[in-house]
Amino acid sequence: MKLRIAWTMIIVMTLLAACGTPEKKEGEIMDGSSISGQAISAARDSLLARHGEEYRDRIDRGVQQVAALWREEDGTAEDFQAFCLAQFIADPDLLHATFERLQQNFMLLGGYFTEMRRDLNAPLQLDHGAILPVDYLFGNFSPSAHLGEDLYRSRIAFTVLLNFPRSTLQQRLEEGGAWSRRQWAEIRMADRFRTRVPAEVNQALNTAYTNADNYISSYNIVMHNVVSGGERLFPEGLVLISHWGLRDELKAQYANADGLKRQQLIQRIMEHIIAQEIPAEVVDNPAVDWHIDDNTITANGTTGKGEAAPREDDVRYRHWLNIFQAERGLDAHTPDSPTLIARRFNEDREIPEETVEKLFVSILSSPEVRETAERISTRLGRKLEPFDIWYTGFKSKPAMTEEELDRIVARRYPTVERFESDIPNILVRLGFSIDRARYLADKITVDASRGAGHAMASGRLVDNARLRTRIPADGMNYKGYNIAIHELGHNVEQVLSFQLMDYPGLRSVPNTAFTEGFAFVFQSRDLELLGLRSGAQETKSLEVLDALWSTYEIAGVALVDMRVWRWMYEHPDATPAQLREAVIGIAKEVWNTYYAPLFGVEDVPLLAIYSHMIDAGMYTPDYPLGHIIAFQIERYLEDKNLGQEMERMCATGSVTPELWMRTAVGASISTQPLLEAAREALDVTAAP
Ligand SMILES: [Zn+2]
Repeated sequence: MKLRIAWTMIIVMTLLAACGTPEKKEGEIMDGSSISGQAISAARDSLLARHGEEYRDRIDRGVQQVAALWREEDGTAEDFQAFCLAQFIADPDLLHATFERLQQNFMLLGGYFTEMRRDLNAPLQLDHGAILPVDYLFGNFSPSAHLGEDLYRSRIAFTVLLNFPRSTLQQRLEEGGAWSRRQWAEIRMADRFRTRVPAEVNQALNTAYTNADNYISSYNIVMHNVVSGGERLFPEGLVLISHWGLRDELKAQYANADGLKRQQLIQRIMEHIIAQEIPAEVVDNPAVDWHIDDNTITANGTTGKGEAAPREDDVRYRHWLNIFQAERGLDAHTPDSPTLIARRFNEDREIPEETVEKLFVSILSSPEVRETAERISTRLGRKLEPFDIWYTGFKSKPAMTEEELDRIVARRYPTVERFESDIPNILVRLGFSIDRARYLADKITVDASRGAGHAMASGRLVDNARLRTRIPADGMNYKGYNIAIHELGHNVEQVLSFQLMDYPGLRSVPNTAFTEGFAFVFQSRDLELLGLRSGAQETKSLEVLDALWSTYEIAGVALVDMRVWRWMYEHPDATPAQLREAVIGIAKEVWNTYYAPLFGVEDVPLLAIYSHMIDAGMYTPDYPLGHIIAFQIERYLEDKNLGQEMERMCATGSVTPELWMRTAVGASISTQPLLEAAREALDVTAAP
């Protein structure tokens, strides 16, 4: 689920001395460090005495970087000094060789752990006989759980910190464009060791996130038991999880002529959840009926007047606050990103908060969105309702039925082997040269999976990327094929940006939004690959409006999430009830600014329904960012040779998202491609 900048996540703290940025003052030591300013000076003086003034900058930087993360259990001040003296590398040849060895060994560690995790999970993930109870235990077992701390204990981490520079986001953004590939690789390597989080802090985080996740994953509404105006609008047996299930049912109701009243009811259910006015007993409970009009309950199936029942009592907001408090526990250990907000933007996303907010606002306040809203209202033949933020009517209907498509796909791909052996042909049809297509196909293994499908990168050069796909006994069906082509896009990116990368430490792309961009391009060509259509202009235009509208919807959600986190840091002692009030207030404020003018109704709290706000620690901004970045990549590739361009782009590796985009498409991360495409789409498609 997480958009993660894998292994190469950032740091911040000590600076590249060479860049003239201010150093930490002597004696100003990071929280948890056991090294005094005096010990730092002593270590530095003895290194200067041994190696000379020309190494002063490197010595200053390295000693500071080690001192910041040295703990009592790592040894005394004398041990620290002895370590610095023994492990500082002045000789350039030895430094170079050490860098190469570290790169190789970190790749091996990552690679073997990847393979171990993959193989231990194979019984759960692959379609190979029965799952044993013990397989679930292995599923939860993480062989690399203690790798980070082990690298400190073995002093490998300290050797990296002593000899290679770390960086700040500001440096990466302002100076990164001028860095050599080698400098980037060094910085990514040292930045792996930006923090050292005590086990109890990690444990508290884990507990808060797991509890919130458990709360969310059992938050089910028994739809047949919701009674309004004496009517039950949903069939027996329909149980929907908040908010995904509720939202998807709401979307599905666009296809029903009388779906409107069900959509309105779902909106009311959502509003009760947000306001925590929902009776606690209604949640995940088939035994009671919920009379939503007067908010009372009865035993399921009985008639008579409902009884008032206790509300849910802000459990939703208590979980959110628990995560906030656990993250505050981490704050002291990440001094240069001392809030979750800073960690998410500066380290995970590597795009400053203000930049992200500007991108979102450019969509939210665009004339194209306003015009799309009018278009939706015309298509629906009514005024917009707030839940129309989830309008799905731009999705194209395929030229043939799903059954016909299933038959075509099943004939072509009766088995996993047949799909695997066709990969070179698929890649050639997508624009890769025959040689490159064969090379890529050789590096991708297709496995029969239990789940719908996923792509798994390899961890070592000798290993293959895995494409997992589900093929029923009577052959592949269209849905499975559509997903498999999406996953193939991920696999090709994985192979290109791994096997062909100049520095192992730069393998991969900046974050998952980038690999999704390629996966969507592959997926959007799935029918062409079957020889079925070249993509009608009308269909493409509607798909663009669909992309714009879903980005608009989720950008508002993200903005609410971001503002709530700011509010929590401003009110660290807030109670769950106060947080509830704040969230509702913020959701309405964002609605009133960016949605009310288009929908003609004010004070709607609906944007606050997203479950990942509660259990994922400000993850939601990754969705609109993902849409924006993926669209920009797709749009650029539209009129180019996919094979050549993708290979060129993937050679860039895990630099900052901004630099990656400039290298890849010659422009900054921007919503302009999406807005321009939407403008064209609005111009060419007539209102119905
Ligand atoms: Zn994907």
